[in-house]
Amino acid sequence: MVNKSENAYLNLFNSQKINQFSVGNTTYKARIMKLNRLKNALEFTYKQRLRDALYSDFKKPQLETDLTEIYPVIDEINFVKRNLKSWLKPQKVETPISLLGSSSYIKNEAKGVCLIISPWNFPVNLTFGPLVSAIAAGNTVILKPSEMTPHTSKVMRDIIEELFDDNEIALVEGEVEVSQELLKLPFNHIFFTGSPQVGKIVMKAASEHLTSVTLELGGKSPTIIDDTTNLDKVVKKIIFGKFMNVGQTCIAPDYVFINETIKTAFIASFKKHLDEFYSEKASESNSLARIVNRKHFERLKSYLEDASLKNATIEIGGSYKEEDNYIEPTLVFDASEDSALMKNEIFGPILPVKTYGNIDEVIDYINSKEKPLALYVFSKNNKTIKHIIDNTRAGSTCVNHNLLQFLNHNLPFGGSNNSGIGKSHGYFGFLEFTNQRSVLKQHTIGAVDLLMPPYNNFKQKLVD
Ligand code: NAD
Repeated sequence: MVNKSENAYLNLFNSQKINQFSVGNTTYKARIMKLNRLKNALEFTYKQRLRDALYSDFKKPQLETDLTEIYPVIDEINFVKRNLKSWLKPQKVETPISLLGSSSYIKNEAKGVCLIISPWNFPVNLTFGPLVSAIAAGNTVILKPSEMTPHTSKVMRDIIEELFDDNEIALVEGEVEVSQELLKLPFNHIFFTGSPQVGKIVMKAASEHLTSVTLELGGKSPTIIDDTTNLDKVVKKIIFGKFMNVGQTCIAPDYVFINETIKTAFIASFKKHLDEFYSEKASESNSLARIVNRKHFERLKSYLEDASLKNATIEIGGSYKEEDNYIEPTLVFDASEDSALMKNEIFGPILPVKTYGNIDEVIDYINSKEKPLALYVFSKNNKTIKHIIDNTRAGSTCVNHNLLQFLNHNLPFGGSNNSGIGKSHGYFGFLEFTNQRSVLKQHTIGAVDLLMPPYNNFKQKLVD
């Protein structure tokens, strides 16, 4: 079975390799036309099928699908449409006097045949988002979405098959083995979104062919709330950021540090706004998705059991429904450092909270861990905000909100070291799929080859 696929993938790869120059030399107008076709599919022809598929995969609410899956890709396309002409223009640069008679420019050329491997948590956004950048840069692409959201993968495949020839863009469905087979091929670039563990596997495979990689990974994103904020407003934002997609979001707050003086008010406010967002019976709310599958449900359930065994206090929530892969939005205090909750990326609707007395304790704690994908600060005090930003490292930071940094295409999106390598979105995403080729052109008249012997007095004088 794998051998058969292996040949099929190699054939697909080779057909794209043959086609790469004709795709790479397309005009910006031709690329915009392709992006418009994709936009039309998302906005009109396939919108309802995508909504239905995401509901079938993990009961993702329709409006959440529109706002977090479909709209961000359309927005990315619109951003590229506004800017692509200038990104593709050869960029003139200065040439030093020692190269008299020459001119220089940078040509943004396509890398070639690219592989995009995506995760299940925002399957449309994280498959088609990078695809937009790859198309803009003029590449051919093989897409491999996650096997955990099969309904959505099927619709995405139908879209790709309708819009593109597979020697330009193809989508391959399948399990991890499919990914492993694809990773053996000498792609010109691999754009991977997923866990740090699999990111390492991807990077190792890429090194065989010295393929460049973008790794959009995960980890534990800390959130800090000091004692100067409007707590109700902050809590609402945290609930939005943590429980959207039921916490299955790479940049969701993973755990929160609050000033110890606001603990009681924080819990009361959390309870009040949880009820307001999802009613007192959250399991019946139509604004909450479900855990993607039984394996991840069991993982999260075991985190809750482990926290209880290690004497953590579940202040809010803690219930679950196995038949529905439902975990109640949960607030936990005093989770010990050796608990699964504090050791792993949670990726679910469980929020551990730690209290602090002095902000430098928080900074030391964060710096003792891997660099996070996102770090959030809620404060009215600009000195505190600056102190935290200056003394920590993270892929991105949003001040007085969370998640929103993802939506600004003028900002590079990505992690740092364990949370990622390379950036996506807008110009930064375009560059990941681009080879910035240096071109120095010596003019046939008036050039002086200073570097070439004989080293005579005339050349010496020019240098002096
Ligand atoms: P994952 O790493 O398990 O899987 C991602 C993709 O890799 C899937 O398509 C899967 O088929 C493939 N894969 C899995 N194991 C593989 C292997 N051994 N060899 C080759 N390919 C393999 O991640 P996931 O569970 O789908 O997604 C959750 C993770 O992704 C979290 O860590 C989350 O933080 C991260 N994430 C990061 C971002 C970001 O933009 N930085 C966005 C979303 C999710």
